[in-house]
Parts: sequence; structure tokens; C-alpha cells
Amino acid sequence: MASPQKTKKKTGAVAAPAPAPAPAPVPGRKLFEYAPAPESRAAAGEIASSNGHFIGGEFVGSSGKEALKTVDPSTEEVLAEFAQGTEEDVERAVKAARDAFGPWSALPGAERGKYLFRIARIIQERSRELAVLESIDNGKPIRETRDVDLPLVAAHFFYYAGWADKLEFASYGPDPKPVGVAAQVIPWNFPLLMLAWKIAPALATGNTVVLKPAETTPLTALRFAEICRQAGLPKGVVNIVTGDGRTGAALTAHPGVDKVAFTGSTEVGRAIARTLAGTRTRLSLELGGKAANIVFDDAPVDQAVEGIVDGIFFNQGHVCCAGSRLLVQESVHDEVMESLKRRMATLRVGDPLDKNTDVGAINSAAQLARIRELADAGEAEGAERWSPACELPSSGYWFAPTVFTNVSATHRVAREEIFGPVLSVLTFRTPEEAVAKANNTPYGLSAGIWTEKGSRILWMASKLRAGVVWSNTFNKFDPTSPFGGYKESGYGREGGRHGLEAYLDV
Ligand code: NAD
Repeated sequence: MASPQKTKKKTGAVAAPAPAPAPAPVPGRKLFEYAPAPESRAAAGEIASSNGHFIGGEFVGSSGKEALKTVDPSTEEVLAEFAQGTEEDVERAVKAARDAFGPWSALPGAERGKYLFRIARIIQERSRELAVLESIDNGKPIRETRDVDLPLVAAHFFYYAGWADKLEFASYGPDPKPVGVAAQVIPWNFPLLMLAWKIAPALATGNTVVLKPAETTPLTALRFAEICRQAGLPKGVVNIVTGDGRTGAALTAHPGVDKVAFTGSTEVGRAIARTLAGTRTRLSLELGGKAANIVFDDAPVDQAVEGIVDGIFFNQGHVCCAGSRLLVQESVHDEVMESLKRRMATLRVGDPLDKNTDVGAINSAAQLARIRELADAGEAEGAERWSPACELPSSGYWFAPTVFTNVSATHRVAREEIFGPVLSVLTFRTPEEAVAKANNTPYGLSAGIWTEKGSRILWMASKLRAGVVWSNTFNKFDPTSPFGGYKESGYGREGGRHGLEAYLDV
């Protein structure tokens, strides 16, 4: 397979208009040049050119003829074809999950736990393969799939494996029962991690599942199906049906499912909620966000800048809880911005499989078009746009790390979820103003606070309408910690003891 980054062209030809020059380097300091350090593509193993569904423990063809393609977003090269799941396919998968539910839920928790521990260990053993496959299919840097996604995926299975025989101590009564068959629909930004967040607690509590991965990233879910077989998981406990939103709609509306767990956009979440209104099907929604990352004048600037960079450029900004609105105290605005731009100029954008890469490819042409449209709107509305001078590969989907200053609360870049490497900067003078501006959004998923004062952190955290509040850090995840939103960011919690509730009949 050709290396994606053979030829490069300047920023602007692919994504953004001509960038402003980066701030002058610190005198006397020479930046390191990194030699390419590519991870082996072959480590992903063989990718079947054509893929069906995983139903009742078998890889099966679709009842329909339509096939979709998944591409490597860093090259636009087609990786594989996969089936567009039909209503009949969904029917088969729900039936397989229903048939498996009785015996699976009747197993002692310790036995279910053994399967989950086995899956967790196999994920660890095959983590390099899964990390490379995820990077190829998603576009995210190998450094992140290897060091963040895969360790967290394994940790989720280990964590919920531990709960399987302790459910009576989870404070949901002496003998909490599973809900039944869970329909689970996930997005493309953390394909395997979102699968783990959904499947691990569902199985630990005795449910069976039908999961639909996103249409741009189906490959690691299909590889996970292999792992289920390798672990000897009873047939039908996990079923994977691929396809786009039509398959998702058929699955979430299916009358045979007892629970729908959806992660994705607020728009689709709303549509699912409308469909399920008045039915007995339970619903949890993990939706969009527009988080405020709030920097006070007493924050250590260098650490805060690392947190700002991590908050918005991690995973190309394809993060629901991304710190996409920087609220910086007016007195330190210039200092923070200067330092931030200097740091942004060192970000390496390019080949996701290069171990030095910080920012990979945008996941799809459609997502790139949306990011461009919103960034253009930011400029048109009068905000000031800046990107470091960086080279972008000549093929694939790319967008340079971008920051907007002089942003007002009414600008689209301050209100709408961009879901890309674009930061909007606003200022505040007092903690009260920071809280008001941070909460001035229909979303409520996360927030960050940078200050040395513990009392201020606690005061702010109690005022912020956000499911997760990080202090002096950002984008830290742990399976023991619940995650979820307020307002239009959804309802229900995933992770931790709280994450069991969604799959228990309580
Ligand atoms: P999306 O809503 O377009 O798609 C998500 C999933 O839903 C995909 O699998 C898609 O095929 C499916 N889908 C599409 N239409 C459907 C329908 N009518 N019925 C049922 N399923 C349907 O979102 P996306 O673009 O894939 O993901 C980005 C969004 O996900 C962002 O808004 C992001 O904030 C959100 N997200 C939220 C969290 C969280 O935990 N809150 C985590 C990751 C992503």
C-alpha cells in the first residue's frame, strides 16, 4: 500500500486559507526535526475486501445487495466493502440476541465475568493489531490509538468484568435484573472505545446486544466480533450489524429491543427519542458538546496551554467533550495566546501511522466539509483566524489546527459543535462571568478549569452545568468514572457504577 504522505503541499491548498506565520521561535532554541517513525501497516492483519454481519456467532451475508465502502481518510484509498444492513438483517440479529438472552442472563455473574476478563485479555494481546486497524480506518494518530484508545478499551472490559459478580453491591437492590436485548448505535470518533463503553456494562449485567458501528469506521467492530469468537462467547450474546443511518434507524425502532443506547449527534438523538416516545423501550443518549475550557490568571500558563492543546487537538477535535471554547481571563489573554500559538506551531500533522504524528486525518469528506463551512462562517462573522504554517498531505482529508480570536458569543464558531481541530477563544473578567459564558450553550457535556485555587475550582464546578468537570487537566478518562451530559448533550451515564444502571431493570 502506498505511503500516504509522499507528497505534501502547503496548508490552504487543501483546507484553510493562507496561514499567518507562526510566532517567531524562541531565540537560541532550535526545534527538533523528527525522522519518520512509521508503524507497520501489516500489523493490522488481513482486511477482508468484503464483509457481512456478525449474527448468532457467525459471519453472515446481508439479505440485501447494497454494499458500502470504508476508506483510509489519510489517503482516500478504499479499505473494504461492508454490508448495508437491511430491516431483515436487523430482525435476524435481534432474534439471535433474544434467543441468547435467557441462557446468558441465567449464568452466574462470576461466569459472565470470566468471558469479559477473557475478552479484555485478548484485546490486550491483540492491541497493536487493533490500534493500527483503528488508525487506518479512522485517521487518528497511532500514538493515540496505541496509548489511549486501546488501553481504555481493555480497561473497560476489565472493570465491568469485575462488576459482573458484584451487582448486588452496586446499590440497585439485592438481585438486580438485566433489561433484555440492547440496541447500541455508536459514532466514528472512538469506534472501539465507544463499543467497549456500550458492550462491557451490557454483558456484565446479563443483557445481550446488537451493535451498529458507524458507516465510516466499521472495521474494528468486525474485528471485535472475531475476538468474541476467540473468547468462546456464547452465540448471539454479541451481534454486529453494519450499515449507515438507515440500519441504525431500523435497529433503534425495532419493537423487539428493550433498551437503546445511542452515542452520536444531538439531531439523530432527538429523532430516536421521538421514535421511542410512548414505547416501553428505555433510552440513554450521549450526544454533542461545546465545552468551555476556562483559564484563570493564576493558572500555570505552560500547563494550561498543554491542556488547551489536548482539549481541542486530541483526536483532531473529533471529541464530544472537546474543549472547543477557550475562556481566558482578560488579563492573561495575550500571554496565553502567544504561548498557545507557539505550541501549536510545533504540532505535527500528517500520516496517522507515524509515531511522531500529533494530529491525524479528518475522518471523512463530509466531516471535512462541515469543519470548513463553520470555519469560513467564523471568518465571515468577523472572528480572527489563525493556523500555524504546516504542511498537509496532498491526498486524504486534512484540516490544519486552527484558532479563532475576537470571537463573540453569538458567532457560529462559539455556538455550534464543529467536531474538528478548531478552537474559539473568548475572554472574561470575573468568575461569575466565566460561569455565565461557559453555561451559555445548549450543551452540557464537559468543562475544564485552570486555576491554583482549590476553593475556586469547587465553586466553579458546582455552578457549571456540565456532566464532567476537569480541574487543571482535560480529556482524562477512566472506566470507574461516570460520563454523560446535561441539556442537549443527552441523558444517562456511561462508565463507573452509574453505567450499570442503564442496563439494569431498576
Ligand atoms: P451521527 O449521529 O451522524 O451518527 C452516529 C451513529 O448514528 C452512526 O452509527 C450513524 O450511522 C447512526 N445514525 C445516523 N442516523 C441515524 C438514525 N436516524 N437512527 C439511528 N441511527 C442513526 O453522529 P456522528 O457524526 O457519527 O458522530 C459525531 C457526533 O457524536 C457528535 O455530535 C459528537 O459530539 C457525538 N459524540 C458524543 C459522545 C458522547 O459520549 N456524548 C461521544 C462521541 C461522539
